[in-house]
Amino acid sequence: MTTKYDVIVIGAGPAGYVAAIKAAQLGLKTACVEKWKKKDGRPSLGGTCLNVGCIPSKALLESSHKFESTQHELAAHGIDMGDVKFDVTKMMARKDQIVEQLTGGITGLFKHNGVDHLFGKGKLLKGKQVEFTPDDGSAVQVLDADNVILATGSVPVEIPPAPLTEGMIVDSTGALEFDSVPKRLGVIGGGVIGLELGSVWNRLGSDVVVFEAMDKFLAVADQQIAKESAKIFKKQGLDIRVGAMVAGTEIKGDEIVVTYKDKDGDKTEVFDKLIVAVGRRPYTEGCIADDAGVQMADRGFVHVDDVCQTSVPGVYAIGDLVRGPMLAHKGSEEGVMVAERIHGKPAQVNYDTVPSVIYTHPEVSWVGKTEEECKQEGIPYKAGTFPFAANGRALAAGEGSGMAKVIAHAETDRVLGVHIVGPNSGDMVAQAVIAMEFGSSAEDLGTIMFAHPTVSEALHEAAMAVDGAAIHIANRKKRA
Ligand code: FAD
Ligand code: NAD
Repeated sequence: MTTKYDVIVIGAGPAGYVAAIKAAQLGLKTACVEKWKKKDGRPSLGGTCLNVGCIPSKALLESSHKFESTQHELAAHGIDMGDVKFDVTKMMARKDQIVEQLTGGITGLFKHNGVDHLFGKGKLLKGKQVEFTPDDGSAVQVLDADNVILATGSVPVEIPPAPLTEGMIVDSTGALEFDSVPKRLGVIGGGVIGLELGSVWNRLGSDVVVFEAMDKFLAVADQQIAKESAKIFKKQGLDIRVGAMVAGTEIKGDEIVVTYKDKDGDKTEVFDKLIVAVGRRPYTEGCIADDAGVQMADRGFVHVDDVCQTSVPGVYAIGDLVRGPMLAHKGSEEGVMVAERIHGKPAQVNYDTVPSVIYTHPEVSWVGKTEEECKQEGIPYKAGTFPFAANGRALAAGEGSGMAKVIAHAETDRVLGVHIVGPNSGDMVAQAVIAMEFGSSAEDLGTIMFAHPTVSEALHEAAMAVDGAAIHIANRKKRA
């Protein structure tokens, strides 16, 4: 095996594996050290996202949505399904098969592109060397590289009042593996994971209570959209309690007693399973030698500049390990940028257009500034909204909840942000990302032709509503 590489990547999540593939495509001799193994000991690429994150959660969201819509929505179409049943074991097997297929796909892509997968632990040493400890117990090797990319990702945050307890108090990984539907499920954290995994088990029949410490629901989102989303989730049966701080948990037989405090004082609730989903923290344990010279930032993140260069020239850090949203696509784009920069191209990532999607039903999606951010930053803005209740395609699909919102600069009309809760909004927000990348005005979005009938017409109409010129709703303000 060669011990000198142009690029060594540590970590093969969506940040690291994409960086490795891109570097190899650009003709750089590349290795990727990855320690993840499946329960049966086989190596697995793809990191958190493919193994225990984005992909398995979406598989369960899809299965649970199909069950719920078959049970509750088909009757309105005149379709009688009788007694609808589901099998959790089969649902889990389907999810595992999708994970197997996709993680295996990365192995294939590494082979095809000539990336060496080194199965074991990597540690950055000083002088851009990487210590590789093979998983098979063979001798530790020290590899030389001209460039090292750290992409060791993140792990769930644990909190003292709710220590993880096998099969009862679990993190997101445990919540993807329940072998039966909990009767009562508690979720600590009303963020993305809490809403997505809370929805999965709620649809399958659990009574779900979500404890959110903050007084606001989805504080990071545009609050008009957050409020609209909260209404929809409440109707779906999610019991979301804001301003609720969990103080302790106690396991009593096969029950978990949760004590929490809200504005009315101390309270308790009893569950048979509890998910802790209060955020993730960067993972660096044993990944960077003390004398490697890599400067750290706050809260365990690796310090990097705008183009993911660490304090050591030739050593980069990307993905969940560094500042910015902990999202797979953000890490992947950083991976591409770093590989291209190593190859000599002055690539950049536009952090102003990172889309966020919460894969509930309907999806909550956004890009750019919220109305609250515009106010805080003193940016003059105007906003237009359009309800899916007035969108023909959404109604035909029985998806008339939610709205699209476009925020534009009051003087230049440039689109500053787009926020949507509604059908397939995760795909719709991509149109807004493209518009913003190309410096579109709200008027541009309003004059571009959208196919009819599509749910995307809500975005088109919201852009027109910015100037009081939507066609299919009564505008609050008339165009001058
Ligand atoms: P990771 O994916 O965490 O990968 C890091 C890799 O580094 C791991 O494979 C780890 O084994 C390896 N590693 C660590 N240390 C070493 C070492 N010393 N040697 C060798 N290997 C090492 N994001 C989205 O954008 N969309 C979603 O829908 C979404 N859903 C999610 C659902 C859940 C339940 C969770 C938990 C997360 C979800 N995320 C989602 C977040 C997404 O998974 C992360 O943002 C993404 O995986 C980060 O990529 P990364 O490559 O930086 O790190
Ligand atoms: P999050 O940051 O989205 O939400 C955590 C929530 O927990 C916050 O609302 C926070 O106020 C609350 N919280 C924190 N401490 C608490 C406490 N002690 N009691 C009650 N509430 C508390 O984090 P997450 O949902 O754990 O997700 C982790 C990361 O994974 C996120 O950064 C997210 O971007 C990523 N992720 C993304 C997707 C997606 O893109 N669809 C899906 C899942 C996860």
